[in-house]
Amino acid sequence: MKIPFNKPYYPVAGLFSVPRAAIAGTLSGNGVFTKKCQQYFENRFHFRKTLLTTSCSDALEMAAILANIQPGDEVIMPSFTFVSTANAFAIRGAKLRFADVEHNIPDISPASIEELITPATRALVVVHYSGIACDMDRIMKIAAKHNLFVVEDAAHSIDSYYKGRALGSIGHFGTFSFHETKNIFCGEGGMLAINDNRFLSRAEIIWEKGTNRAAFYRGESSTYNWVDIGSSFLLSDALAAFLYIQLENLDKIQSARKRIWEHYYHELKPLEEKGVLELPVIPSYATQNGNMFYCILHTQVERDNLIVYLKDKGIQSVFHYLPLHSSPYFHEKHDGRPLPNTDRFSQCIIRLPFYYGLKKSQIKYIIGSIKEFFN
Ligand SMILES: *Cc1c(COP(=O)(O)O)cnc(C)c1O
Repeated sequence: MKIPFNKPYYPVAGLFSVPRAAIAGTLSGNGVFTKKCQQYFENRFHFRKTLLTTSCSDALEMAAILANIQPGDEVIMPSFTFVSTANAFAIRGAKLRFADVEHNIPDISPASIEELITPATRALVVVHYSGIACDMDRIMKIAAKHNLFVVEDAAHSIDSYYKGRALGSIGHFGTFSFHETKNIFCGEGGMLAINDNRFLSRAEIIWEKGTNRAAFYRGESSTYNWVDIGSSFLLSDALAAFLYIQLENLDKIQSARKRIWEHYYHELKPLEEKGVLELPVIPSYATQNGNMFYCILHTQVERDNLIVYLKDKGIQSVFHYLPLHSSPYFHEKHDGRPLPNTDRFSQCIIRLPFYYGLKKSQIKYIIGSIKEFFN
């Protein structure tokens, strides 16, 4: 049996998304399908406003511009994340301060955030790892106390919740990815959710190359001009049309993915009870959204051996996140503080194959192989 790590969900209708968008109006940005997708997200998840972008990386860059991050401003974020979380703020000259994650969940630790706050701190970026929510009440309280912007990197987190509120709708900004490895995708794509009214009109301008084009086309302005900084952050409507088909199938995709997650969890529970490995922890305020399935082994050697063992069985599993604080680009800029929980997760997490269409028989084979490894 050969089981890949990921296999994107391609409904047949996806093949026709380019002509569908062209016939509806345009293949460039801010067309019919962009508006349909944005409306869907706003209605369903209660984001104040959304803008489709070419990637989550771009959505993060827009958030950094909107938060008006200037050279020397300090931004706190987890080291246990994808490089884009950090790049967006590094590009603006921010001084990055890396916080540790919780000991039992790879989500940023509010206590670790508090240790890093100085008068120069401007923003907190939190990552809901694998779609499992950070402790947002505590984080928003810290932010309010110190007057900080909060950006939720919700790349893993579509259709996941904190105390009933959609992730990405709680901070000032939420950023999403529709890269092919995420729950729903359009090849490359992303979205910025803006949850604070103060930023709505500027967000639209930055999105359209620093022009008031969107307002002009709505008839709100008689000219269309350069009014601010910006870039071409818009997603092509051909890709928005592809994404819209995923949205039409969202419930089906999500219920299948959540079932796969439950299945893995249930089948691996006996191994956790024997003390062989640890399973994801879901706090009472959080949900799982079928983003990925990971487990935590005792040591890096054991984890790496399991990856090789599964590979020999035709099963592709992966490790996750080399910490940013010790990366070649950053390690000399890091203040030297140890981030032990970050290091442990980085060394011991294994992610198992996870995609819509992964069959029960395949999961059984994967679990059987893991049990064999430990025998
Ligand atoms: C995937 C991912 C990104 C980047 O998403 P792109 O759409 O590829 O730019 C950013 N942050 C996290 C946490 C991610 O997992």
